This record gives sequence, C-alpha cells and structure tokens, in this order.
Amino acid sequence: MTHTQGEPAATETTHHTHFDAVIVGAGMGGIYALQHFRKLGFSVHGFEAASDVGGVWYHNRYPGARVDVEANYYSYVFDPELYSSWEWKERYPAQPEILEYLKAAADKHDVRREIEFNTRVIGAQWDPEANQYAITTDTGGSYTARYLVMTSGQLSKPKKPTFEGLDSFKGEWVQTSAWPDRHIETKGKRIAVIGTGSSGVQAIPVLAEVASHLYVFQRTPNYSVPAHNGPLDSKRYGELAENVRAIWPELLRSPTGVPLDFPTKAASELTPEEQQARLEHSWAEGAHNFNLVFTDQGRNKETNDIVVEFVHKKIREAVDDPAVAQLLMPTDYPIGSRRLCVDTDYYKTFNRKNVELVNIKGNEIDHITEQGIVTADGNEYQVDLIVFALGFNAFTGALDNTNIRNEKGEQPSDIWNRGPRTYLGLQTVGFPNLFVITGPGSPSVLANMIVSNVQHINFAGELLTYMRDRGFNRVEPTLEAQDAWTEHVAEVSSKLLRLNVENYMVHVNRDDGSRVFQPYVGGMHTFVAKCDEVIANDFEGFDFQQVGGTQ
Ligand code: NAP
Repeated sequence: MTHTQGEPAATETTHHTHFDAVIVGAGMGGIYALQHFRKLGFSVHGFEAASDVGGVWYHNRYPGARVDVEANYYSYVFDPELYSSWEWKERYPAQPEILEYLKAAADKHDVRREIEFNTRVIGAQWDPEANQYAITTDTGGSYTARYLVMTSGQLSKPKKPTFEGLDSFKGEWVQTSAWPDRHIETKGKRIAVIGTGSSGVQAIPVLAEVASHLYVFQRTPNYSVPAHNGPLDSKRYGELAENVRAIWPELLRSPTGVPLDFPTKAASELTPEEQQARLEHSWAEGAHNFNLVFTDQGRNKETNDIVVEFVHKKIREAVDDPAVAQLLMPTDYPIGSRRLCVDTDYYKTFNRKNVELVNIKGNEIDHITEQGIVTADGNEYQVDLIVFALGFNAFTGALDNTNIRNEKGEQPSDIWNRGPRTYLGLQTVGFPNLFVITGPGSPSVLANMIVSNVQHINFAGELLTYMRDRGFNRVEPTLEAQDAWTEHVAEVSSKLLRLNVENYMVHVNRDDGSRVFQPYVGGMHTFVAKCDEVIANDFEGFDFQQVGGTQ
C-alpha cells in the first residue's frame, strides 16, 4: 500500500473494521469460537460488554454461585494440556474458580487481543448488496462482518426488578445475575432474597450464614436436590486427564453432554421397594442424576408422582416446622418440568432462627419503600439489602439486545413471535450468515453448556470451511429444512409433562394457548447424529450462494 503526504502511514496498529466473523460475547462459547475460527483461517473480532471474559461466570458472582455439572466434564476437553494442568478444587466448582479457568483459557489461546471489552453491540444490520452485517457498538464503533456469530448465551439478559418504589429504597439492592464486581456487605445485614430458582436456591444458604435476618420471598416453590459437593476426586480426574481425547466422544454420545448412568427401567417394571431403593440411590448421588431414576418420569404422571412423593418426604425430614415444609413443597406441577435446582443445605436453612420464608403466592410484592418490601396484605419487611434472583429473558433476550435486523428490518424475535423457528438451533430463515450458538432448537440449556457450545461452534466451523472451499459466501437454511426441524423439535417435546408447566423454556402463545418447548429435548446424542448426517450429506438443508465477486 502506498500513502501520500498528509495521510497517516499504515502501521501494525492499523484499525481493521471488516472481519470474516464477528463474535458477540466472550463467555465460554466466545472464547472457544474466537480461537477455533481463527485456527480455521478466518479473521475474527469479538465484542464483550463486560470488562473481561467469562460471560455468565463474569456476571453471576453472587455468594454461592457454582456450576451443577461435575468439573470433570465442565472443562474444555478440546485442550488436553489445559485439562491436565488445571487443578479443580471442588466437584462442583464455585464461580470464582470457573472465572479463573476461563481467564486462563483465554490467555492460553491468546484471544483477548481479538476482543473489544466494555463494548456492547447495539446494531447488526444485514446488507444484502454488500453481503455482510453492518455492526455498530455503544462506543461509537462501526464494523462490517461477513458472518455474525452470537455467543451471547441463552441466559444472559437478566429480568430487571420493576417493583414500584425501588428507587426510593434507602438500602442497597443487587441482582444475582449482575452481581457487582465489588464488595457487597452482607455480614450482619437484614437481607431479602426475591426468587427461589437455581440462583436463589444457591445464594440463600450462604447468605443465611452471615445475615442478621434473611427473608426469602417465594412465589413458586421449586424442587431441589442435594449437590453433595466436596473436594474433587483428583485420582479420577487424573485418570481422565491421561486420555482426555477419549472424553469428547463420550460426552457427545450422552443425552445430556455428561456421561451419567441413564435408567433402563420404567417405574412400573419395579416393585415399590426397588423403586424406593433407586430413589435413595439417585438422591445419594445428587444433582441431575435425580432426573434419571426411571425411564418414564418425564412423561408418565404416575411415575412422576412417585418421585414427587419421595422428594416431599425428604423436605419433611429436613425442615423442622411442618408448615414451612409444606410451603417449600411444590404440589401443583411434576418434578423435572422446571429445571431441577441443585443445592447445599437449602431446605435445612429454613430451620435457622434468622431465616424466614415469606410466601408471596397470592400475596405478591406490592411495592418497595425506603425501608423494605411491602406485600399485598400490607405487611412490611424492613431490610438493608435486597437480592433479586428473578431469572432471565431466556433465548431471545440477548439477540434482542444486539438489535440484529434482516433486510426487512425485522429481528429474529419478530419472526419467532409464535415460538422460535430454526434449523438445528443454529440458523433461521431470513437472516443469512447469522449463527446463534446454543440457540433454541438445539440441546442448549438442557445439556452441559460447555459441550453445547463447543459442539455447535465446531459444526459452524465445518460449515464455514465447506463454504470457503467451494467459493460460497452466503448461507441460510431452506424453509423446508427449517420447518421439518422445528416440527421435529415440537414432536419430541409433545409428550413431556414439562410442556404444560410455566417455565422459561416454554414459549406460550397467549391467543390460543399453544405452547412451544424451545430447546431440543431429543438429547445431545441424537442432535449430534443429525448434525453428522447433515455434514455427510453436503450440509443438506442449508442453501449456499456465491454473491458478488469475493468470498
Ligand atoms: P429462574 O429459575 O427463572 O427463577 C426466577 C425466580 O424469580 C423464580 O422463583 C420466580 O418465581 C421469581 N420471580 C420472578 N419474578 C418475580 C416477581 N415479580 N415476584 C416474585 N418472584 C419473582 O431464574 P434463576 O434462578 O436465575 O435460574 C435460571 C436458570 O439459570 C436456571 O434454570 C439454570 O439453567 C441457570 N442457572 C444455573 C445454575 C447452576 O448451574 N448451578 C445456577 C443458577 C442459574 P416464579 O417461579 O413464581 O415465576
């Protein structure tokens, strides 16, 4: 390149604004995608709204936050060196350790240099003429990218508290999902936790240890099973580390991306004594093993009732006050139809003198005052700190935040107003060259998320390589393939008890009450088999084009 007098000379610091692939979000998916696509020879650039890598593990730094998949399998097994050298402390590592791990992975794979931190993508407009996305950021940046890869996660747009009067509250309030990166004083404080999903269930026992008084505001009780967390079995980890490459195919063969013992018998094939023995065994194993006691517990109400009764018994045994125990027991929906919570001493926490369960079912929070929380019955609960654990705008929240527009000016959620429609969760008709990693229609949040991310990104990488090798530069699914896949996603969930229960995985059409289960419940193993078949058949279901003269 030549330059004339007066023009700045091109140096090594030349600011590039066009990339083959822009990656949005630098959590476990983004870190992997950046290094993977770069290794495949694509120019990449990442954007991350936070000041560092980590994604959910950056933002969810609330006391008690930890993963509920065993560290053995919640690791980047694509990197045997990292796997072998990392010494996880616990079976279910806590947020600080996972964040350190992701930072170490980002450093080892040198991805930080590709990422603009503290920068949120606020617009991604598809330009059909230029065959690229025009990307704008909240720092005033303008970029273009041939491919837009969303590694922004499915649970990354927190539901903000909208309670009347919150502005007037004189104490402090925080969200579990956006816990600040500074010390939040909890010791000796009067604390309220609002929300008893997975986040609340993890935070409550830890906050109870330090609070002078803890009010737990529960609208809907959730089923929770013990984690049985403890130090990692380093001998077992060492054995796995000796042959890390063997782990990956095993994870892909499993329905959940974790090699668990899957049941082989329906409850009706067992005597009541055998059923109880299995329940006790799964309870002792803890965590998501408890979804796998009987083959039919997710579909057969009678079987599910057996599991429910067992958990009710465990709650009664753990909680001293029978009235409190009763409030903690979900009674109007099947177990497993909302995501199981995994806890450490959750139910026993309600035996503490400083912990009070406030049942707000039918007695909702009315407003917030300078001093605390007022429920519909007029009771005021005075507190110093309010912890909101209200959940997320799942699946479409982060896409909406990014403001991705097709050539008609629509966002994916405009087109998905009757439920998501995708091909393999990865792409949607009308949005060429957009890849949604772990999107609705893929196993997504139903499987080990690190496996979901890596599997999806590997598939996208193969697809992009296939295109490059053949001179294609535009891809979107055919309507036929998308319709067939969407139909299949609906079909495999149609017999599940969980389809009819309110929870963030179900999209409900309010006009006719029809329901769409958003992630793919067919299992990781089935999904992988379908992806392999698609690859073997020249990426059938995708429509490739060569637009303009360049790739
Ligand atoms: P969540 O499961 O959606 O729970 C949100 C809670 O907030 C529910 O108890 C909900 O009550 C309550 N809530 C919402 N709005 C409310 C209001 N206006 N008034 C009173 N209560 C209100 O959210 P989450 O606990 O953050 O968990 C979300 C997902 O994140 C999990 O399912 C899991 O996939 C993931 N996660 C994983 C881990 C882990 O790996 N260990 C930990 C945390 C989160 P209702 O049920 O009545 O609406």
